[in-house]
Amino acid sequence: MDISIENIRKEFERFPALHDVSLDIRSGELIALLGPSGSGKTTLLRLIAGLEFLTSGRILFGNEDASHKSVQERNVGFVFQHYALFKHMTVADNVGFGLRVRPRSQRPSRAEIRRRAEELLELVQLPGLGKRFPAQLSGGQRQRVALARALAIEPRVLLLDEPFGALDAKVRRELRRWLRELHERTGHTTVFVTHDQEEAMELADRVVVMSNGKIEQVGSADDIYDAPASPFVFSFIGASNALRVHVEAGRVYLDDRPLELPRTNLPDGPARLYLRPHDLEVSRDEAGSIPGVISAVRRTSGARLIELEIGGRRDRLEIELPAEQSHRLNGRLAVRPRKWQLYRDDECRLAS
Ligand code: ADP
Ligand code: MG
Repeated sequence: MDISIENIRKEFERFPALHDVSLDIRSGELIALLGPSGSGKTTLLRLIAGLEFLTSGRILFGNEDASHKSVQERNVGFVFQHYALFKHMTVADNVGFGLRVRPRSQRPSRAEIRRRAEELLELVQLPGLGKRFPAQLSGGQRQRVALARALAIEPRVLLLDEPFGALDAKVRRELRRWLRELHERTGHTTVFVTHDQEEAMELADRVVVMSNGKIEQVGSADDIYDAPASPFVFSFIGASNALRVHVEAGRVYLDDRPLELPRTNLPDGPARLYLRPHDLEVSRDEAGSIPGVISAVRRTSGARLIELEIGGRRDRLEIELPAEQSHRLNGRLAVRPRKWQLYRDDECRLAS
């Protein structure tokens, strides 16, 4: 089932937590809401669920306006970061909970609920653990039980709010792959909230980047990474440098020296050149490139990180070079970008 979010706004006592948000979620897709803390991800998820109500706008489930429907009527499944399972209930009873509390006319028989719980535990790869209690499971296993519980009601959409956020990095990565595979098998329309760009990019068909209650960009991992729609998206999605430059008649100037870059159609005036550390390479010639003095050299597992001080400015560039290349502290170095993005200066100030 497709979900259409149309021009929604949500205020908490006049504070706009979300504004002008529109988004189409396609049936069967796994979409990630990605953004820093406070950007409105949870609010958007709770609005889809029916746990909060809109200030204005509409949410359609298929063709039906769900804006004023209850959680039960929307039939959504969800898992939160700290989705406490019921401690006093067995795993199987936890999984079957959503079915047991249904009105009598829609409630499956006890045997049917038991069978369904077993089936779901198999699906989340915890077969035979139905008799255990939550305290006897690891954190990762508990979140898989929470997921089985969310799936038990055969939800029309699955909403996951940082479901792996409380787990350690290794378990998180495992569960991420596992969830992707589960999604491929079951095909539930899924909205996944995270503040971790790697998690979003690896997991989702499409990523929705949010900031300050707005959507900045919607696209595939490639779209977001290779064509970030704003300076905010560029810097949120990976390591980045922003170099103050000037545009005149389509040419880009660093102080008063032209950089060897294709012509831009940005208007004349201050601009910023956004560069990723690994998209910079050493240039033999200072003309047309970015010259500076090496102010730090660090070694990482796969590369050498160099900090370049650009002649008398406050700007510093972080550059990632192959580990085989050695560079002297205080030596001169000129670099040029293989890839870059250029934004108007006023756009950048809005982003920060
Ligand atoms: P995220 O999940 O991206 O961290 P939230 O959706 O939780 O962000 O919050 C978005 C903004 O709305 C934040 O500024 C937050 O303080 C505010 N907010 C969220 N819920 C409430 C609430 N119940 N009452 C008042 N303000 C809220
Ligand atoms: Mg949140």
